[in-house]
Amino acid sequence: MLISLVIPCYNEEAALPFLYEALCDVRSSELAFGNTFEFIFVNDGSRDNTSKVIKDLASSDKDVRYVFFSRNFGKEAAMYAGMEAARGEYIAILDADMQDPPSLIPDMIRSLDSGECDIIAARRVTRKGEPKIRSFFARMFYKLINKMCDVEIADGARDFRLMRRPVVDAILSMGERQRFSKGIFAWVGFRTKWVEHENVERVAGETKWSFWKLFKYAVDGIVAFTIAPLRVATYTGMALALGAFGYMLYYFIKAIIGRIWTVNAGYPSLLCFILFIGGLVLMALGLIGEYIGRIYVETKARPIYIKSEDNLKQDT
Ligand code: UDP
Ligand code: MG
Repeated sequence: MLISLVIPCYNEEAALPFLYEALCDVRSSELAFGNTFEFIFVNDGSRDNTSKVIKDLASSDKDVRYVFFSRNFGKEAAMYAGMEAARGEYIAILDADMQDPPSLIPDMIRSLDSGECDIIAARRVTRKGEPKIRSFFARMFYKLINKMCDVEIADGARDFRLMRRPVVDAILSMGERQRFSKGIFAWVGFRTKWVEHENVERVAGETKWSFWKLFKYAVDGIVAFTIAPLRVATYTGMALALGAFGYMLYYFIKAIIGRIWTVNAGYPSLLCFILFIGGLVLMALGLIGEYIGRIYVETKARPIYIKSEDNLKQDT
């Protein structure tokens, strides 16, 4: 059976040789089971020598297939392109930096073979070697998104997973431009099994995720998979209006029974209320803007990535 391994690469020249070696080990150990492989490297507009490293591998190994992007489109786009190119019965996605241990792949294949699940996905049970503050925010994010979304997004879940063909077809059928894979993986359903492993630090190079990038990613994820924030705005507005109405009624009755008197000290409280409400209104507007912005981007229907080069058509 053919198994496709999809590897998104962005500035990974240093890590690729290690990864390739590990992948070859997997390939030779799987020979006994009659499994063959294709390694699909997606070069996501790297600025270093990644493209040359990949081409060198491809020239000496017919199982190496590649797609190069015209610029950096992000890991989500790279995974999409890789899955599109994949021809295997089973398809795996793994990082180039060995943080998704390739040594887990044989066991993952056995799990799918046994028919007990359709997706076998890896999950980190520790966040060893990661800044404490980042782990904290990551946990908060998962709590928040799972409260708001209908689909369950697993904490510590990586993009590392082995899937059956129908799962990948389902993922590819979701043609949205702003892709939030963690949500997409959960949304398509199918039977998922988890393998847990310790956090592994990247073998070479450095992470492409700054804190700010992760924050934007978190907002993207929430906006992409739930409209709950809009509802929060509605409810807050309703609660405030109700409160204001009660307040009004209170003063109205007071005026009728003639117990109202003028105070000059109303100015600060008035200011506070106006600022508070103004802030809420702006926030709600911004929120609506987030969604409209996404509608705008989706309606432009631009391609998810632009390819500059590949060797996919070559007969192997
Ligand atoms: N990656 C990519 N495009 C990007 C950023 C990252 O294809 O714009 C790839 C990267 O080469 C790696 C994987 O996505 O194979 C995960 O990236 P990284 O290791 O930087 O993320 P982390 O493991 O720190 O979450
Ligand atoms: Mg990594």
